[in-house]
Amino acid sequence: MKYQGCAASRGVAIAKIFCYGDQTLPVEEKHIDEVLRRAEIDCYHAAIAKAEAQLQEVYAHCAKHDEDKAKIFQAHIDILQDIQVREEIENAILDEGKCAQWAIASIYDMYAAVFADMEDPLMRERSIDLKDVSDRLQRALLNAPPAVSLTDLPENTLLVAHDLIPSQTVTLDSSRVAGIVTEVGGMTSHTAILARSFGIPAVLGVPGILGDVSDGMDAILDGIEGILITKPTAEQLAHYREKQDEFKRIQDYERAFLPMQPVTRDGKRISVNLNIGDPDDTHYRPFLPYVDGVGLFRSEFLYLSRKELPSEEEQYEIYSRTLRYFGSRPVILRTLDIGGDKKTDCIAIPQEDNPFLGLRALRLCFAMPGIFRTQLRAAFRAAVNGNLWIMFPMASSIEDIRKAKAFCKDVCDELAREGVPFKRDVPIGIMIETPSIAVMAEEAAEECDFCSIGSNDLCQYTLAVDRMNPIVRPYYMSYHPSVLRLIDGIIKAFSARGKTVGICGELGGDPKIVPVLIGMGMEKLSMSPSAVASVKSAICNLDSRKAQQLAENVLKCTTEKEVKLLL
Ligand code: PEP
Ligand code: MG
Repeated sequence: MKYQGCAASRGVAIAKIFCYGDQTLPVEEKHIDEVLRRAEIDCYHAAIAKAEAQLQEVYAHCAKHDEDKAKIFQAHIDILQDIQVREEIENAILDEGKCAQWAIASIYDMYAAVFADMEDPLMRERSIDLKDVSDRLQRALLNAPPAVSLTDLPENTLLVAHDLIPSQTVTLDSSRVAGIVTEVGGMTSHTAILARSFGIPAVLGVPGILGDVSDGMDAILDGIEGILITKPTAEQLAHYREKQDEFKRIQDYERAFLPMQPVTRDGKRISVNLNIGDPDDTHYRPFLPYVDGVGLFRSEFLYLSRKELPSEEEQYEIYSRTLRYFGSRPVILRTLDIGGDKKTDCIAIPQEDNPFLGLRALRLCFAMPGIFRTQLRAAFRAAVNGNLWIMFPMASSIEDIRKAKAFCKDVCDELAREGVPFKRDVPIGIMIETPSIAVMAEEAAEECDFCSIGSNDLCQYTLAVDRMNPIVRPYYMSYHPSVLRLIDGIIKAFSARGKTVGICGELGGDPKIVPVLIGMGMEKLSMSPSAVASVKSAICNLDSRKAQQLAENVLKCTTEKEVKLLL
């Protein structure tokens, strides 16, 4: 069977399907007769031994790649060995005649609730660990397959899910994932961004796929064309093995450009930067020496998979650490971009019919000034540790820019009054993601020190098409002349005023369109790590005068099809 989805991350995978469906386990309260209670205790002990063996295996695997992840599993082993919990479960079985599963679930739940109510955020996080251990134990008891933690996936897995939310992917073991397929999402959804940053091929937006596939099914994923083939024929396998080899050859060729200076054949130096989320993510490390800085630091990673807001101190530490990683190279911190498809338990956003048109990003920060001020205080304080630039997402009017700048001034004045060390002289810029501010680019350029084009949202808002909705995928045309003409106008407006203009949406990491952007005058590109080598290869093979001619021709096109033909 062949499915068409969105080609969200390049590459070809031939692997076995693993379905990541609903993980909840039903619990029944059964009464155990007195004569059977000892046997029930034995079952409970056997479950502990089994769960511990699983955890030891996961721990050993993680310890080789990622010590932080390994620590999570060491903590789970410690919880499993807790004497007090063990005794309480045994008493519930022996004295009250509860079945082992109910005893495990209720006692762990009780402790999880106690931890969830604690003041200390670290203690509160333990409640999730307790729930994880409880679930693993129950599954061991019932001989049910362990819940998929996304850490202990089988080798060469083609992960099929409805969607992958950040909290689920924290422990994703990318070395075992050959490909990702989801029912929802598209080129610019967060699963796509994650897949590209891990370099995992992905096809997203295949509605109903979980209902059609089962664990262990053979499949081919073509992340270049956006195709998924289940139960492939020998002929299809042979064809895609060839395609896989060809892709690897191209990757090897491009990889040779990674350490090179991104200079066009006629000597134009283009700045190549990284888009990052969690700066401590080890996937970024190999790329750090080969980029000019960070073009987009998505600060919302700090807020996404948690129940309480990050404190000023926590943010200060993380921003400072990131700045130190990059030394004198610029790091563009994007202030909080929550709303739209990015939800978090720590910020309650009222129910909205059109979240992408609702209380999102800068608007949300204006509505919740405490959250905004905390982030800005942490940022201006951290700025003393490196070359920080601050960027506001979703500015949609000149008033928005002025208001955001007023917040900065206010926060800096406050820090000065308090005598706290900070740096006031930080470049302030905006993301250009809405047509309204793109059209006002000349006035916006007067107000800011720089801008970065968020082409993912700019395309969504220009063409009025939901970037997450697979049904309208054909309407999401990122090479559409309307989008490209807006980009051209922004580049001209900012360059004419000597202000830096960059791009950090997915177009910035797309080697097909990069020549056009450079031809328009773009000098700063920012992208996910997996795109760095291919973009550098495109730059090094480019003549900027020819690129200019190409851009002029592209700007005359009337349809996306014509643009694609030219490319
Ligand atoms: C964009 O909109 O292009 C962008 C980079 O922001 P995000 O994808 O995080 O919305
Ligand atoms: Mg955006």
